[in-house]
Amino acid sequence: MAELLKGKPVADALSAKVRNEVERLKAHNITPTLGIIRVGENESDLSYERGALKRCESTGVQVKRIILPGDVSKEDFYKAVDEANADESIHGILMFRPVPRHLDRERARVAVAYEKDLDGCSDGSLAGVFTNTPKGFAPCTAQAVIEMFDYYGIDLTGKNVTVVGRSLVVGKPLALLLMNRNATVTVCHTRTVDIPSKTRNADIVVLAAGQPEQFGKEYFREGQIVADVGISWNEAKQKITGDVKFDEVEPIVSMITPVPGGVGSVTTSVLVTNVITAAKRAAGIE
Ligand code: NAP
Repeated sequence: MAELLKGKPVADALSAKVRNEVERLKAHNITPTLGIIRVGENESDLSYERGALKRCESTGVQVKRIILPGDVSKEDFYKAVDEANADESIHGILMFRPVPRHLDRERARVAVAYEKDLDGCSDGSLAGVFTNTPKGFAPCTAQAVIEMFDYYGIDLTGKNVTVVGRSLVVGKPLALLLMNRNATVTVCHTRTVDIPSKTRNADIVVLAAGQPEQFGKEYFREGQIVADVGISWNEAKQKITGDVKFDEVEPIVSMITPVPGGVGSVTTSVLVTNVITAAKRAAGIE
């Protein structure tokens, strides 16, 4: 039986830190504020937004929502983004992506000023991840994996870590964050030959492929730590599943994150933590 690495205690610990920081910032007359930019009424955006609002409310972080219709013009959309970038009362911005195609997705990716880019997708933020300098923010989900390892006392130095997935929001930045923590990282993707040999060879395996229950016992061995970032809706089973065949893998490995209730539940806490960091950086507070 593996130890379950649940997300809730990690999220709670991060929220407790945020509450303390909110009080500290209030003493400087600063109310940390998250700006949310959403286009349209996509259900997965709305669900993430509800989670973020709840987390902000429980920690004392204020929220300003900028909600635009799904057919908003390019001009109005980028005007709203520019206004949020310039608004000194907004410390960090969450822009829901992908935006509708007519808004130019690549332009949208880099439209939020990196100082406020809480979800770490702009070039400035990614440069910070690449150079391991506090510039912008790492993508929240990638950072959430690191927060899980830190909370559970998993030292990454010298560990062999295999990451399955190389997207710009999860796999690729996570590989760099792990390397910044002195792990030796292997990244797998759809063109990788013989993935089981790469995952079985690792001390720690992170799955971020978005392939529901694809990774069974042939990918793992005893003693490993497994973080499952995948979140997919399994229509047949009518439940959310990760990338790992949990029932098969959990009895073999030593630690594993459940889905749901694992990495996914830490992401909004990372987002809110980033609002605090952005507010402190803007005010020059350590
Ligand atoms: P994505 O953009 O679709 O990228 C998936 C990556 O996995 C790609 O690099 C792809 O390789 C690779 N891949 C796909 N199938 C594979 C396979 N069978 N073997 C090896 N590699 C494979 O997905 P994403 O945005 O990174 O998200 C990944 C998962 O994380 C999804 O389930 C998503 O729902 C979840 N997620 C969770 C959170 C959260 O916890 N809050 C946030 C974001 C994402 P190629 O590059 O070769 O195509």
